[in-house]
Order: sequence, then structure tokens, then C-alpha cells
Amino acid sequence: MRIATYRTQKRIEIGVLSEDGSAITPFDIPEQQAAGGMLVLLEDDLAVRPLRDVQHPLDSNDVELLAPIPQPKRNIFCVGKNYFAHMQELSKYGLDTTVGNTSPPESPIIFSKLPQCVIANGKKILYDEQVTTELDYEAELAVIIGRSGRAIPRARALDHVWGYTIINDVTARDVQKRHKQWLLGKSQDTFCPMGPFAISRDLLDLDETPIRCWVNGELRQDGNTKHMMFDVSTLIESISLGITLYPGDIISTGTPAGVGAGFHPPRFLKPGDRVRIEIPPIGILENPVRAVSSD
Ligand code: MG
Repeated sequence: MRIATYRTQKRIEIGVLSEDGSAITPFDIPEQQAAGGMLVLLEDDLAVRPLRDVQHPLDSNDVELLAPIPQPKRNIFCVGKNYFAHMQELSKYGLDTTVGNTSPPESPIIFSKLPQCVIANGKKILYDEQVTTELDYEAELAVIIGRSGRAIPRARALDHVWGYTIINDVTARDVQKRHKQWLLGKSQDTFCPMGPFAISRDLLDLDETPIRCWVNGELRQDGNTKHMMFDVSTLIESISLGITLYPGDIISTGTPAGVGAGFHPPRFLKPGDRVRIEIPPIGILENPVRAVSSD
């Protein structure tokens, strides 16, 4: 099942995408509950059903896509340096405060992004030179939790996953470096493009799913989920050890090599750039970069 959260001319709705992605069948959800995006489906354990015989074309003139969960209830859990080649490129750049150059971390590095920095597919990533001149992209697979749990064992971790979406873990590298802790560098306004859709877990093979990112049409990241150092089950086990996970919680699983900071010299984002991330079968998440003062 592929789910879209979207705004019509009247209200926010949640719907199931048709096989070819050209149409949406909405769920019968009261307007107030739908405002939180697909969160209501997760909290209600899919008790609501799509309306029968009501299908609308997915026409961008009529429908504005929102992030699957436009504003999560809690911070988004994120994983630092979960791909070996990316860990190495960050070490060379000078972000090596937590692990050695060549040894994988012994435990996952977990940080978070504020819920308020989530933006939808197509929305602007703000470039504010008062804040950063080292704006960077990170293409990531994000896990959407569907069932609560604490101290979830690895073997049952995937039972707690509803599905997946794409996140661009946008980062101000200079801020990240300067402040040591990563919250500020990772949580500036607009720093979490999410979408375009959410897919149920049965549609994605965690052992073999490409993650690709282009900047202005140039392929920068060409990774695969099979190269994660800590797999999704291990991440859930680690995070939930003493923190209860709830439906609608999101875990962004880390980015493969090829970020701007990994080039020599670095290739950071500038106003006018377009970042395009593709993780089949979720779809394509594409966002322009705009200077903060421009429209
Ligand atoms: Mg990241």
C-alpha cells in the first residue's frame, strides 16, 4: 500500500495510491483528524478503510502533496554514520569526533531532528547565509513505526514497522562542526524534506534497495540499504531499549557516501540547486534550494 497525504482545495486528505500512481482513493477520515496526515491511520491501526468507488486523479493542479506526516509528534530519530564509506568521507572532512577513521562504531550513533523542520516534496529548502554556507544533502530511508514497544528485541523489531518513506537529512556542516552536538546543524527550518509517499513494509526489501541522490541532474549518491552497518532491526532494538516507541515515530536510517562534504573540494548546495532523491518503490523526493530572502 502506498499512502499519500495531500491537500485539496477544501481540506487535507489521506489516500491510497493506485498501482500506477496516477490516482488516489481517499480514506473516510474526519477533517480534523486528517490534518495530522497519515498519523491517524497508524494510531487507529488501519481501522479506517479507503472509501469505495471514490477515486480522484492525482493531478498536481488539484492536489498538493504534503509530507506523509507533516509534523511528527516527536523528534525524528536519526542515525549518524551508518554507511562505512560515508563515515570515511566525513572523517576526511573533519567530522570525526565520535569514531575512528577506519573502525565502524560499536553502537549506532543516534541524534534527532525537530518535527517542525519537515517539509513536503517540492517545497523549498532555505539557504540562509546568516546560518550556513555549507548546506548539504543526505538521502535516507526512513522507517515509520506502526506499533508501540519498549525493549523490542531484534527478532521482533520489524513487527513494529508500519512502513517507509524518504527523508533528506539536510545539514549545515559548519554548524554541525562548530556546535559538536548535531541538533542545530540538522534542525534548521526546512531541513527535513519528507515523502513523496509512505509505503507499507511489505513493499520494500531492506536487504536490497537502492538509495540514489542527484543534484541538478548529477548523480551524487548511489547507495544501497544492504550496506547499512546497523540494520533496521538493530536500530529499533537500540533506540527502544529504554525509550518507548509509538506509532508515527520516524527513524531515518543514515545516508550513503556522496554527500557534498565528501568531495574535494566540498560541493555544498547553493540557491537554485535541485536535490532529487529516489528510493524505489517509494518514489522521488525532489526539492529546490532557495535563498531565504527570495520567493
Ligand atoms: Mg543523516
